[in-house]
Amino acid sequence: MCTVCLGNRKAEIINKYLPVVSSWSEPHFLTLTVKSIPKKNLQAVIKNMKQAFRKILNTYNKRNLRGKGEKLVGLMSIECNFNPITKTYNPHLHIITNNRKTGEILLAEWLKRGKKKNVNAKAQLLVKVKNNKDCLIEIVKYGSKILTENDLNKKASSGKKVTIYLKALYTIIEAFEGIRLFEHFGFKLMKKPNKEAILAKIAVDFREFNYDSTKTDWVDIRNKETLTGFISDQRIQHILENCIDTESS
Ligand SMILES: [Zn+2]
Repeated sequence: MCTVCLGNRKAEIINKYLPVVSSWSEPHFLTLTVKSIPKKNLQAVIKNMKQAFRKILNTYNKRNLRGKGEKLVGLMSIECNFNPITKTYNPHLHIITNNRKTGEILLAEWLKRGKKKNVNAKAQLLVKVKNNKDCLIEIVKYGSKILTENDLNKKASSGKKVTIYLKALYTIIEAFEGIRLFEHFGFKLMKKPNKEAILAKIAVDFREFNYDSTKTDWVDIRNKETLTGFISDQRIQHILENCIDTESS
């Protein structure tokens, strides 16, 4: 949930996987969806989706080991957004494949295995990746959007009205419990040589700061000096003060 931790996670994954994606011949971006669902089904559906995906990989892996068929190679992340109008959730898988063939196989298997009423062929998307880094960022940034556009048909841009659906966000995070949000398949990561161990030191001379939301900064408890000098964006301030919905889910 913490945006700082999410930022660190994002940087770590990008450093690890960008060289891999960049070595692929023709990376493709695939989105696999299911029909939107109410809150009570969310965790079960997420588990089913991951299981279904795993099954496809296992089947092809076994075949490949017998010397038949494609090796499926790629990265996968799971994301879920909230639709405030219908009060439903739409978990979906974001996948980057090594080439178009892998993407086509995954898509075809997903449609074949999904029940017709739950999986709509038109809602799935397979496109060629234009920028490896942007695409990687796209799939690892959040498990869910923090800001939801009020008009779902339009893309969020700085001028658009947005709401933070706090309860719905919590529902999503709760449903993700114990679920691996990011995975790679079909390849092994090269191990980096061990880094030098960082020796711990005990700090004896330090300053103490408290966060003051009115100053949007940390403040020294003794001399009241602010730590970062950060000045909050007006739009963010407006959203935090006026656009948080704690009821809908
Ligand atoms: Zn954190």
